[in-house]
Amino acid sequence: MIRQTAAHVDLGALAHNARAIRAFMAAQRGDGGPVLVGVVKANGYGHGAAEAGRTLVEAGAGMLACADLEEAAALRRAGLAGPILVFGALSLGDADAVFEYGLTPTIASPAAARRLQEASARRGVRLRYHLEIDTGMNRLGFRHDNLARTLPAVLASPNLDLEGVYTHFATADVPGDGLFALQRRNFDAANETLAGLGARHYLRHAANSAALLAGPATWFDLVRPGLLLYGVAPPAFEGRVAVKPVMSLRSRIVTVKGVRPGEIIGYGGRFTAQRPTTMAVVPAGYADGIDWRLAGRGWALVRGRRAAMVGSVCMDMIMLDVTGIGAEPGDEVVLTGRQGDEEVTVAEMAGWAGTIPYELLCRVGNRVARVYSPS
Ligand SMILES: *Cc1c(COP(=O)(O)O)cnc(C)c1O
Repeated sequence: MIRQTAAHVDLGALAHNARAIRAFMAAQRGDGGPVLVGVVKANGYGHGAAEAGRTLVEAGAGMLACADLEEAAALRRAGLAGPILVFGALSLGDADAVFEYGLTPTIASPAAARRLQEASARRGVRLRYHLEIDTGMNRLGFRHDNLARTLPAVLASPNLDLEGVYTHFATADVPGDGLFALQRRNFDAANETLAGLGARHYLRHAANSAALLAGPATWFDLVRPGLLLYGVAPPAFEGRVAVKPVMSLRSRIVTVKGVRPGEIIGYGGRFTAQRPTTMAVVPAGYADGIDWRLAGRGWALVRGRRAAMVGSVCMDMIMLDVTGIGAEPGDEVVLTGRQGDEEVTVAEMAGWAGTIPYELLCRVGNRVARVYSPS
């Protein structure tokens, strides 16, 4: 049994996107391009981390990355055996999973380095880690302007081996942005400091989706796209790589009925019919990831046409104005994706809701089945 509202995940499109990104980089750099790290945090941006991870590895990703140890452990339990980088800060008491599941942690603070050194020494093992440098975003990482003081102790940790050094950009999606350029220079300077401290033969990485599309200057040895793999390009760089949307959120009409002029639809009476209106109820609400703010602003596709979301978005339902569309119970409703000649993209829906596509993708509800078509 499956609910009518389901997220159709096209693993073929995901594999296509990974290959298209790799081909784009190889063509521009002529050395085969950097290694692709498939970012599958937040349940693979809502698509299913294990399925997405498996598909990305098959399509040539050399590494996967997640937000925290719990996500990485879930990937291991799903049978993914390759390298997994954990972006997040190690919270108190959870370092065991690094060893138990063979994960690659990020060290972003002196305290994290001390804890991992102690834990590695206790187990009598050596641990490979990636070092995160904060080059100006002011989130996680060692401050770029303080490295000569903070890094010697980390680099001298007898049980820790430096595998990679990375930074993260705050404004890569804004072409020509000054902070983006400054962060790049700060990262270069950090690598010079590291060389001065004797660090050699490690991998460098910096690029998220937007930086990847902006050009080779920040590709280094590895790139870390997330959103782009799932078929959504930052607006400023749309069309640079021909990616396909991976997820389509679909449902079916359960009820169609008439509403008279002057009558309201839904909680709060936020919509009043101005004319004889045909209304359809769709069993997908904010518990399924339909943003509450779409009320009166969003559109869905029915019979290849756009139908307005009217009244409030309920927990389990929305109502559509299907006047003149000839809709019937059982008709397919496309919330994001293609139907006939029409398409609603996640980016378009995010615009209506006043949010970003990232948020809509990773908020697709737990109870929404992911229906996979094979790669
Ligand atoms: C989420 C994340 C990425 C991927 O970002 P996109 O904008 O989705 O490409 C890359 N690196 C780090 C550190 C991240 O947290």
